[in-house]
Amino acid sequence: MSVMTPPNVRTGDYIEEVLTTVKAKNPAEPEFHQAVQEVLESLRLVLQRHPEYRSAKILERIIEPERVLMFRVPWFDDRNEIQVNRGFRIEMNSAIGPYKGGLRFHPSVNLGILKFLAFEQVFKNSLTTLPMGGGKGGSDFDPKGKSDNEVMRFCQSFMIELARHIGPDTDVPAGDIGVGGREIGFLFGQYKRIRNEFTGVLTGKGLTWGGSLIRPEATGYGCVYFAAEMLKTRKDKLEGKLCLVSGSGNVSQYTIEKLLQLGAKPITCSDSDGVIFDPDGINQEKLAWVMELKNVRRGRIREYADKFKKAVFMPTDIKLDHNPIWNIKADCAFPSATQNEIKKKDAENLLKNGCKLVAEGANMPSTLEATKTFLDANILYGPAKAANAGGVATSGLEMSQNSQRLSWTREEVDDRLHKIMIAIHNTCYETAEKYGTPGNLVNGANIGGFLKVANAMLDQGLV
Ligand code: NDP
Repeated sequence: MSVMTPPNVRTGDYIEEVLTTVKAKNPAEPEFHQAVQEVLESLRLVLQRHPEYRSAKILERIIEPERVLMFRVPWFDDRNEIQVNRGFRIEMNSAIGPYKGGLRFHPSVNLGILKFLAFEQVFKNSLTTLPMGGGKGGSDFDPKGKSDNEVMRFCQSFMIELARHIGPDTDVPAGDIGVGGREIGFLFGQYKRIRNEFTGVLTGKGLTWGGSLIRPEATGYGCVYFAAEMLKTRKDKLEGKLCLVSGSGNVSQYTIEKLLQLGAKPITCSDSDGVIFDPDGINQEKLAWVMELKNVRRGRIREYADKFKKAVFMPTDIKLDHNPIWNIKADCAFPSATQNEIKKKDAENLLKNGCKLVAEGANMPSTLEATKTFLDANILYGPAKAANAGGVATSGLEMSQNSQRLSWTREEVDDRLHKIMIAIHNTCYETAEKYGTPGNLVNGANIGGFLKVANAMLDQGLV
């Protein structure tokens, strides 16, 4: 028999070793390191109880994508000049289902960002209770300022390569930053043309060609349902709460809509140019105006302050040591723009102003230090992979409808989404308690998501 060292010391060393290897093997991918670190820290508790995961090298395998695709995307702009972008698809883990995860079109996209998103997606998809593996993809293409024809030509070129790697039982992409209904339409049209088949190969499709009711609303609605569940554990509710929402895209818009339906008062939104603060609250009518601004006119959020006189616009100032949106007095915060938008100082500002709940609509919007600040303060903190899982869950429901060739009603999909968000919250809450960290939904989400995938990997042997 081998000499035993105390299990916690050994597990600690082991996790450090895995983390060191991840950093050494994947240099210049800080967001990927951050996402892996957060999950591995939570898994300490699991590895002490389940040495079998270590001997099967589940951690070493789960951090390595099953496949990474990187490809050239050439296209003609409106001046007939050639443009060249880079396309990606990370097929991270298919232990519990086909790869599933969005496509992001944004100039900041690179391999490390997509790997962090794909890694998070594995655990998120597992939490939804639906059979979906994890993937993510996209391009450094910037749809902002491009004509519809340019976006179409780009999407068609992107799909010429992607089509050979995806399929309804293999890999099913969806939208993310910069990829909404318009882009999914162009991508789907090109896939159908190349493959000569009409299948559920993408989600977020239009309603007349295989899309699901409630899919556009799902991430925002789901995040608010999750927040309501968190509040219930403290016998509280959203009604009357002042809420900060960042971003003004898909997730933000429907977060604001559901907050209004539940009687809360959203008072902010933003884009990369700055923040608007409306002390009177963003009501349904103002939200409809924002939706038209962003989804139809594709304008900038600063126009809100010209239109609604009491609102203030605070332009983005990179010299500031904090983001002004998180320094406004409110009860709840719904970061819904992008990764690392809440730094330690922002977290401290939120707490100082009395914020009692953070529900993450965006992926990894809080830095590791900000997350720790929230956990230490014991506020209600809903991490992204749990709180924003409603989007992919409803994509899963879209896939089910496509397979059955049926369309469910709005009420049916919304009801299923709501039940899934309640189930995800319960899993996180109960898992956190079971592993000795009650109330810590970061641990709950990471462990809850991990166990199902890890057990499937054990069952399926060394693949
Ligand atoms: P959209 O493209 O619809 O909206 C993104 C919003 O965030 C825009 O207002 C955009 O402003 C702002 N934003 C993006 N990048 C930055 C940045 N670097 N700095 C400041 N603001 C920025 O995307 P979504 O609403 O779909 O996605 C938002 C977040 O939610 C992302 O983190 C995404 O991964 C996550 N998410 C989305 C899901 C979905 O179903 N759509 C599902 C789960 C998570 P601007 O226009 O100026 O760039």
